[in-house]
Amino acid sequence: MKINVTTLGCPKNLVDSEFLLGGLKGCDVQLVDDPLLAETLILNTCGFIQGAKEESIDAILEAVALKKSGSCKRVFVTGCLSQRYATELRREIPEVDGFFGNRDMNRVIRQLTRELDLRREILGERILTTPSHYAYLKISEGCEHPCTFCSIPGIRGKFKSRPMEDLIREAQSLADSGVRELIIVAQDSTVYGQDLYGEIRLLPLLRALVSIRELKWMRLLYTYPANFSAELIDFISEHRNILNYVDMPIQHISDRLLRKMARKTGRRHIEDIIAGIRHKCPGVTLRTTLMVGFPGETEQDHEELCEFIGDTRFERLGLFAYSSEEDTPAFNFPERVPENIVQERLAELNDLQCQISEEMNQELIGTEQEVLIEEYDTEEEAYVGRSVGDCPQIDNRVLVREQKLEIGRFYLVNITGAGPYELVGKTSGQMLSPQNIESEVPHERYSFAG
Ligand code: SF4
Repeated sequence: MKINVTTLGCPKNLVDSEFLLGGLKGCDVQLVDDPLLAETLILNTCGFIQGAKEESIDAILEAVALKKSGSCKRVFVTGCLSQRYATELRREIPEVDGFFGNRDMNRVIRQLTRELDLRREILGERILTTPSHYAYLKISEGCEHPCTFCSIPGIRGKFKSRPMEDLIREAQSLADSGVRELIIVAQDSTVYGQDLYGEIRLLPLLRALVSIRELKWMRLLYTYPANFSAELIDFISEHRNILNYVDMPIQHISDRLLRKMARKTGRRHIEDIIAGIRHKCPGVTLRTTLMVGFPGETEQDHEELCEFIGDTRFERLGLFAYSSEEDTPAFNFPERVPENIVQERLAELNDLQCQISEEMNQELIGTEQEVLIEEYDTEEEAYVGRSVGDCPQIDNRVLVREQKLEIGRFYLVNITGAGPYELVGKTSGQMLSPQNIESEVPHERYSFAG
């Protein structure tokens, strides 16, 4: 049977799909990248905000159209949209052969294997869907924070850490397979272990991961400000292969709105953390996510946010419009912000950040940056890479105009030009290899397969 798995949404969903692919591979099926070549389509959906829901429904309807055209025989839907709306979806789109939740990958395989009569249902190895030089490591599932706008706790369930030994084994196996950048994800990575070990064990986990020699870059995403410790700042500043990159979604800066959002933290605390990170981790790339148009957001709140962005100068910033989700407390909050006001505020913040990003990138001209080369762009006639400050899919890129570079390798690049969301440069002709990498791991134990 030829099966295609399409993933929508966040890296956590991607990891789920990769385990599903690994489980399916063990069932003697042929995995195909092109849905047009598949007999069975599996859609791993996203469903936490309006835009994501619409994208997932469009993808389901496209798959159903392929089934109606005879291009494929079966369509299965899994992930957060069907976790959240299985009943409605079954009623509205009966052409789908099965709707599964986001913790049902075993059931999906069982359903498929029953058809194949292979009776295998163990989820084993992951099949990476990212380029072979980077991969995500999902350290926990679910969330128990009370953020009043967020549907994720209702979709993904309670906070559940994965056992440390499993994570270390998985990270080592990823490294052995050629992964050089490991991106650590969770709903909130700062409380790793709390549920499983009765105490937060993020630092012991990071300590174990940084000892995996081949993993040159480790990027920590989704840190929750209320739990961001001074020890974590120290750890990042002391460990070269934990990248000088901090992703800390704060959502807003107005104390009044942060209380209404139930974000367990306030302006003063957020500013203290940022000051601590900037002090201990010079040159850090600070990324955050901000929400515009939360119920009750006044012009004054918005101006406070503009001033804060102007003062803090985030290197990377994600801006989102509030999405009114029916099963969240904020859904019933009064004082909705009119859509046109939301869009005006969003545009103003985007313009402000674009200017800040341009200025910051201009300051990098003349510097040397470590860049991971990812692909060759024929249109740009240049290699495309990412610097330490660029997470895949969400941040900037570096264009490197060179004759011949190796994809998946690290180079030192002299920055010669900059735009708001990209840098341009030339390599110093030096590919980074074991000899060029400083690390707290003694050199003689390196095995840099590259
Ligand atoms: S911490 Fe993030 S995932 Fe958890 S409830 Fe808040 S916004 Fe949602």
